[in-house]
Amino acid sequence: MQLTTEASCQGTSISFNEPTLSLEWSLDVFRLAGSRGLYNTLVTNGYMTPESLSLLIDAGLDAMNVDIKGDAEVGRKYCKTIDVEKVWSACQLARSRDVHIEVTTLIIPGVNDSEATLRSIARRIATDLGPDVPWHIARYCPAYKFSAPATPVRTLEHAWEIGEEAGLQFVYVGNVPGDPSDNTYCPACGSVLIRRHGFDILQNNLRAGCCPDCRYSIVGVWASV
Ligand SMILES: [Zn+2]
Repeated sequence: MQLTTEASCQGTSISFNEPTLSLEWSLDVFRLAGSRGLYNTLVTNGYMTPESLSLLIDAGLDAMNVDIKGDAEVGRKYCKTIDVEKVWSACQLARSRDVHIEVTTLIIPGVNDSEATLRSIARRIATDLGPDVPWHIARYCPAYKFSAPATPVRTLEHAWEIGEEAGLQFVYVGNVPGDPSDNTYCPACGSVLIRRHGFDILQNNLRAGCCPDCRYSIVGVWASV
């Protein structure tokens, strides 16, 4: 906590090591950070019980990015028979308790890049969570035990189109710096709201969380400008 003050951090994010494996530690961090006015986030596979998620929310969880890795078959085949419905349920619970949710899908050729799988994920984000929930379509690159070539950009662009067709308002292609979908566009008038390159924010046009041109309110947690 001392380091967050010294570095002028605005919040915490428990990530990289799956945070559901360190529930008690996360609860301690969230309570401490919340008492100092910091926000708290998770980057997680979302595979948690309603009880543990409720504990995290009560301790001060503000937002989480959840991996939806695929459909039921992908869960069975590649994720040691996990039930992906539990992940969707966790997302719905968080959403119902006003936790900001974003979904990420790492698209791996031959694993979860089929038309049916991508359409099913996009449709469920729109219907089960809401069309204003951002969907990040991340590019896979070979590592460790996976040697398949990196995801073709064309596949990611098609997934982006699928997200748009499903009615999702915020679809981003990840791990392709310079892709036009790095930017956030106003769902109502199309204006560029946030211009990015990779992880860098080049321009933020939001005014109090709204489009400067048409005043459409953009979902998210924004610094007041
Ligand atoms: Zn607008």
